[in-house]
Amino acid sequence: MAFEENYLSWVRDAHAMEIQAETMLEKMVDRLEHYPALIARLQLHLQETRQQQALLQSVIDRLNTSNSTFKDALGKMAAISQAMGGMFADDEVVKGAICGYAFESFEIACYTSLIAAADVVGDSEGARVFEQIREQEIAMAEWSLINLPELTEQFLMRDATPGVEAKK
Ligand code: MG
Ligand code: FE
Repeated sequence: MAFEENYLSWVRDAHAMEIQAETMLEKMVDRLEHYPALIARLQLHLQETRQQQALLQSVIDRLNTSNSTFKDALGKMAAISQAMGGMFADDEVVKGAICGYAFESFEIACYTSLIAAADVVGDSEGARVFEQIREQEIAMAEWSLINLPELTEQFLMRDATPGVEAKK
C-alpha cells in the first residue's frame, strides 16, 4: 500500500475516534450530577474534541483532493475506538473515569503514531495538527489520573452515606 493511502486511512480513523469521544463525553456530562470538578473538565474536553474533529476534517479534505479514489470504509482502529467507547459508557463514576483515562491513553498513542506517519509522507502541516491535538489528550489523561484518588474517595464517602447518590 502506498504511504499516502495508509496515512489517509489513519487520519480518517482518528476522526471516527473523535466522533466516538464526543458521544462518550456528552453521555458522561449529561449523566453526572454530583461531581462538579469532573463535569467541568469533561465539558472543556468536549469542546476540545469538537475542535479536534474540525482540525482532522481539514487534514482529510486537503489530502482527499489529491486522492479521490479513496474508499469510504472505516478501518479497524475505528472499530477499536468504538469498543473503547462502550467501556467508557459505564454508569458508575469511578469506572467511567478509569475507562476515560484508558481512552485518552489510546488517543495519545494514535496521535503519536500519526505524527510519525505524517513525517514519513512529508505532511508537516498534518504533523503540527496532530501534535496540537496530542497535547490536549495528554493534559486530559494527566488530569484524569491525578484526580482519580480524590474522585474515588468522594465516591466512597457518598456511597457510605445513607440517602446520598454516589454513582453519578
Ligand atoms: Mg480527542
Ligand atoms: Fe481526548
